Amino acid sequence: MRIGIIGTGVAGSLLAESLLGTPGVTVAAFERAQIGEQAEAGTGLNLGPNAAKALRLHLPERHAALRAASLDWRRWQVALTDGTPLLDLDLLELAEEPGLRIRWSELYRLLRAPVAGCTQHGHALEAIEEDAVGRLVPVFRVRHALLRYGGFDLLVGADGRYSQTRALTAGEPEASLLGVCVWRLLVTAAEDCPFDDYTQWFQGNARLLAFRVPGGAVYIAGTFPLGADGEMPEAARSRDFQRALFTPEGAEPCPAVAWMLAAIERQFEEIHWARSATIPLLRSAAAGRVLLLGDAAQAMVPTLGQGATQAVEDGVIAGAVLAAGGNVAAARDARVNFVRQFSEEASDTLHPGTDPVAGTRAKDGPAFRAKLRRLYTDVPAPSPRPIEE
Ligand SMILES: Cc1cc2nc3c(=O)[nH]c(=O)nc-3n(C[C@H](O)[C@H](O)[C@H](O)COP(=O)(O)OP(=O)(O)OC[C@H]3O[C@@H](n4cnc5c(N)ncnc54)[C@H](O)[C@@H]3O)c2cc1C
Repeated sequence: MRIGIIGTGVAGSLLAESLLGTPGVTVAAFERAQIGEQAEAGTGLNLGPNAAKALRLHLPERHAALRAASLDWRRWQVALTDGTPLLDLDLLELAEEPGLRIRWSELYRLLRAPVAGCTQHGHALEAIEEDAVGRLVPVFRVRHALLRYGGFDLLVGADGRYSQTRALTAGEPEASLLGVCVWRLLVTAAEDCPFDDYTQWFQGNARLLAFRVPGGAVYIAGTFPLGADGEMPEAARSRDFQRALFTPEGAEPCPAVAWMLAAIERQFEEIHWARSATIPLLRSAAAGRVLLLGDAAQAMVPTLGQGATQAVEDGVIAGAVLAAGGNVAAARDARVNFVRQFSEEASDTLHPGTDPVAGTRAKDGPAFRAKLRRLYTDVPAPSPRPIEE
């Protein structure tokens, strides 16, 4: 079976690594970015304990490499911007191992290294054709030329949120906006930062989220509600607006928030702005000849930090299922639907009119904790291969 993978981000790299050496399977991966192009790209991210578990069970070498390049994500704390504490969860009460805090550049470097031998870089999918026996033939733009590498029995779209594979075979998905802006920033000179592990600070329905990542850096994400039209007012992209948004009324910001406000002011021009959106889950297209993984299949709201985490689960579990000749949708879709719904539920406190104090305290209750436990632990081990007679 000849499998072509479009995109070696999170899901695509892990799928390729999982399939390397599988009898009867040849893998070719195609990545738009040039080698090293994203070496310094992006910010930081947290991968949930469920991503760590999926890697430990399915690709232990990758698990070890990522652990070595990460800080443990052990706690989830929530406070108000004046420092009033609301929640302090020890993830090890709910998970089998900590999550990971890592830099994007490191994550991509470590995931792409093992599949470098089967990856063509600088290849952007531009069209999909069919060969005489009905196999799909991807067409890539490489500088000024269009290149083809023959027909594939299965084409895997792991090309992210704006998947060309999905658009070409199933049409552009309709995005649903959550009604909030999410911005992200990596503060690189952060030795004097007064906090370490994953913490959120609320000011009304606006929220800062931050944690240290390796290399003396701190990742900060700001979230705030948008108006009824869902558009981002230009005025919101200013230092004054953002400072006012996260400054407590009639009180001093706590030391952590004061530190972040100064860092935001200094590095304001580096902020990456986005509106939080989801697309409908779609696992396959072109009569089963296309399989979609990660954001291409299921881009979700960022609230529980599950976008890349689910891409990790997708990559390793799809690898195990394809190697055993099984059905990826059957193995993944119920789980992904649970995670998407839970992530939206957990976004309650970001919407105007909700009470972030009561909403956060509810997250310390048994119902939310039971769901978090399911989120962090319900990851299947590889099933033993059937013994051939
Ligand atoms: C700044 C930021 C911070 C985030 N923080 C978190 C977090 O803390 N935790 C978390 O779990 N999630 C986080 N997310 C979500 C996370 O980024 C995605 O859910 C995750 O990257 C999806 O993985 P993927 O493999 O589906 O796609 P990606 O990792 O986006 O990989 C897609 C790959 O396809 C390639 N590609 C795209 N188009 C083409 C084409 N036409 N031809 C060939 N190749 C192509 C791209 O270059 C890329 O390498 C964050 C997202 C952003 C933007």
